[in-house]
Amino acid sequence: MSFNLNNLIRDNVKGLKPYSSARDEYVSDGSKMVFLDANENPFENGVNRYPDPKQRNLKALLAKQKGITEGNILLGNGSDEVLDLLFRAFCEPALDNIITLPPTYGMYQVLSGINHIENRVVVLKTNFQPDLEGIQNAVDANSKLLFICSPNNPTGNTIAAEKIEYLLNSFSGLVIIDEAYIDFSSQESWVSKLSKYSNLVVTQTLSKAYGMAGIRLGICCASEQIIAVLNKIKPPYNVNELTQQRAMERVSNQQTVQEEVSHILSERQTLQDALEEVSFISKIYPSDTNFILVKVDNATHRYEQLVAEGIVVRNRTTQALCENTLRFTVGTSEENKLLIAALNSVT
Ligand code: PMP
Repeated sequence: MSFNLNNLIRDNVKGLKPYSSARDEYVSDGSKMVFLDANENPFENGVNRYPDPKQRNLKALLAKQKGITEGNILLGNGSDEVLDLLFRAFCEPALDNIITLPPTYGMYQVLSGINHIENRVVVLKTNFQPDLEGIQNAVDANSKLLFICSPNNPTGNTIAAEKIEYLLNSFSGLVIIDEAYIDFSSQESWVSKLSKYSNLVVTQTLSKAYGMAGIRLGICCASEQIIAVLNKIKPPYNVNELTQQRAMERVSNQQTVQEEVSHILSERQTLQDALEEVSFISKIYPSDTNFILVKVDNATHRYEQLVAEGIVVRNRTTQALCENTLRFTVGTSEENKLLIAALNSVT
């Protein structure tokens, strides 16, 4: 494959001069300064100043933990923003296309619609692994991004490393590996392969295992060249001050995160065992995540019955290969017991 980043960047992005914010131009050396540069209200309340547009402290912490450099990281308002930036940097509306592998995370399709980019869909094989031949047939010179969600939502499985390697070697656009659920998996993150593959982009989030969906912090790891392109087009203050502070606290406290993940994984096992006993569940799909996909007799009917019992789950019946499936997030022990009780009480 011939990978050339320069051929992927949209012309308008190549020529773009990014907005230079007040805090972009000034780098603190620790001296006390008087800030009269950004038209802020001077009365201190903790958030009266603009946040660091480069999120240097948070990136330094994340870079150390992931064994990469700060230049390999872009942070966003959730990974949804990061994914959108990838479209805006690399996909020319009404001309380029992306490849997605359903059943998978729904935002790739939505973002392709928002950005007016054709989404070439290559459904996974029935074992929920990529159809390499199908992908090869779908790709053309305008295929810019290939989205691989691993572990995959909603199926819960990890995409086989050798398939991903094949795609990294053969696809001439960017391969985006969405690792939103990686912290629940025993598999190694693809971040460790960044120096090997110049077309690799890995996205992660604090919304799942880190328990911080409410602060909106998405992480994009890629080569310094790719990150530099995304930095050009990101909104200057896209990660707010409160988010940066809370993320720093949480990321510094790995022990709590690990304890919660272990707890969720043990609850997942308990939930799985209980689901085996539910009469109308015909299949429980193995999971490397904090959710379980199950096949039932009639997903829409069972979904409505659960809502009537006060429990909201995700009905995935309209997704490719997912007819009559429901996706259950692993909750607390009490929540999972309520789910099991409700499943066993409906007929
Ligand atoms: N990727 C996947 C696979 C997801 O399931 C989700 C959330 N459901 C996201 C990304 C979005 O994450 P964030 O909250 O960081 O925008």
